[in-house]
Parts: sequence; structure tokens; C-alpha cells
Amino acid sequence: MESQLQAVIDALESAESLALTSHVNPDGDGVGSLLALALVLERRGKEVFASLPEPAQYPPQYLFLPGRDLLSSPDEIPHGPKLFVALDCSNLDRLGKLREKAEGAAVLVNVDHHEDNRRFAHINLVDSRASSTSELIYKLIRRSGWEMDAQVATCLYTGLVTDTGRFQHRNTGPEALAVASQLAAAGADLELISKEVYESQSLGYTRLLGRALQRVQVLEDLGLVYSYVTQEDLMETGATLPETEDLIDHLRTVRGTRIAVLFKELENGKIRVSLRSRDGVEVGPVARLLGGGGHANAAGYTSDKDLSGSLSQLLETLRNTHG
Ligand code: AMP
Ligand code: MN
Ligand code: MN
Repeated sequence: MESQLQAVIDALESAESLALTSHVNPDGDGVGSLLALALVLERRGKEVFASLPEPAQYPPQYLFLPGRDLLSSPDEIPHGPKLFVALDCSNLDRLGKLREKAEGAAVLVNVDHHEDNRRFAHINLVDSRASSTSELIYKLIRRSGWEMDAQVATCLYTGLVTDTGRFQHRNTGPEALAVASQLAAAGADLELISKEVYESQSLGYTRLLGRALQRVQVLEDLGLVYSYVTQEDLMETGATLPETEDLIDHLRTVRGTRIAVLFKELENGKIRVSLRSRDGVEVGPVARLLGGGGHANAAGYTSDKDLSGSLSQLLETLRNTHG
């Protein structure tokens, strides 16, 4: 791990111009690690093209993050960049339409913490024991001696707090808590982060949450709790999909849940399926079987079937694999 950290530092130090990006449907760790690294490198005088790949709707709960003005559109990223850094991406498909530009880079760098990471780059800094990609960016900054200020710390803490489910998931351990403590010491604005990420819901999303909770179903034999959100729900409540990132955490709170599932209907009619698990049950393998991926306890995929078809397919796969 030390040599990979140093390899990434050397690559970043020697580049005058570079492209940075994270995954489609960005989350707090994707946005936080991206903005933190963009801020640090911009201050070191680099020409930074930081961008989120299409399809990307910037989640409104992260609008407060410093460095957002450094984001450019994916079209502005040059073809064949000298250095391209993918953050929080387990494989090249996660880069959406930026995949080709990543593959055309002279040097491609992969910084990630997914255990199913395909090590698709020239330099792979992949540590599945890390709580988040933001934790890895923290380690890069500390090792290199680059400047860590309150703005950078706020971005990284946001990545940590969201990927650990507010320091409650299994990826929370001594290391994640120590890094959080260091980020707090560096000036991360914990109060602002809590307010913006967890207590600034739109009224529309609050009503959408109500609908999703109202229709929760439980399948006792599998310890499975599920619900769904349709395009009609989004239209009628005025909520948007990026706001629903932690809706699934509410499903998991039902006593006896081993697997929580949220089906989200996309604009194109496909269904994004989010999976969470606990008590030794792993959902990563099921997500991979169905064309997606993720962590042992947090994974997802996209289904071409309609809502009820997606449910039947998932249940069949679960019953086959979880006996
Ligand atoms: P989500 O339910 O969308 O929050 O995703 C949960 C986890 O699964 C995250 O770690 C994602 O990186 C991963 N994931 C979701 N969808 C996919 C996919 N289509 N391919 C690979 N990983 C995915
Ligand atoms: Mn992510
Ligand atoms: Mn992550």
C-alpha cells in the first residue's frame, strides 16, 4: 500500500495538467474525494479538469461543498490527457461517457476502496479495508505533505461520514474514526456537514420518503425489506433521484432486516436497484450476478425489467444463492 500511495503521489506531482473524475450517479464519497483532490492540486499550480461523468445530476445535498466552482463539464476534459484519475470507481463502466477519455490517457490512475475493483489502471491504489476513497485521499495528502486546510477537510469528512452511514456501518473502525478525528482537527465543519447533508431535505423528498416507507414490504423467510420509488412519485412530490441516496438506510432500520432493497425507476424506464445487508449476509455477489457491483454490505445494479419483473428476478437470484 505504501508503494502505491507513493506511485500516485509521484504521478500527480509530475503532471502539469490532469483530469479527475468519479463515478456516474455520484455520492458523497465520489464528490467529496473529487473536490478535495481538485482543491489540493489546483493550489499546487496544476491545470485541473475535474468533472462528474454523465449521467450525472449533481446531488443537491453536496452543493455546499468547497471547490464546486472547480468542476467543469465532461466535454471540457481533453482527449488523450496525460494523466487521468478515477476516484471511487470499481471498473471503467462506472466512468460512464468518460470511459473513452480515461482509456486514452497516457497514465491512468485508479484510487478506490471497492473489493471488486478490477485494477483497470496503470497505477492502482486500491484498499478495500479503507472506509472510503476520501480516507485514501487523506492518506495521500498526509504522506505527500500537501496542504490540508479546512475546505479540503470538509470535503473529505463528507465522503467519510456518508460512506460509513454516519460512522455506523461495518467499514467504521479505529482507522476511519482516527481519520475523522484528524479531519475535525484540520477544521472540517462538522456542524455544517450534518446540517447540509442530513437536515436540509426538500419538502418533496420528505414526502417521497413518506410514500416509500408507507409501502414497505417484508419477506420474512429472507429477512428482506423492500420498497420502491417511481417516476410518478418523483413528479408528484417534486423530489429528484439524487436526493434519495440514503432513503434505503430507513428500510434497513426495520427489526429483523438482513437485506434491504430499494427499487428506483429511472427516466428511461430501467430500474436502479440498491441493496444493503448485515448480519453476515453479503449482497455484493448478488449485485455482480445481476450485472452491477459494490461492497459486501452495500451494492447495486440496474435492471432492464419493470418493477415487478425486477423484484421476481432478484428474489429468484437470492433464493438460489442464499439457499
Ligand atoms: P447505491 O445503492 O447506488 O448507493 O450503490 C451502493 C454501492 O454499490 C456503491 O458502492 C456503488 O459503488 C455500488 N454500485 C451500485 N451500482 C453499481 C453498478 N452498476 N456497478 C458497480 N457497482 C455499483
Ligand atoms: Mn461511491
Ligand atoms: Mn466510496
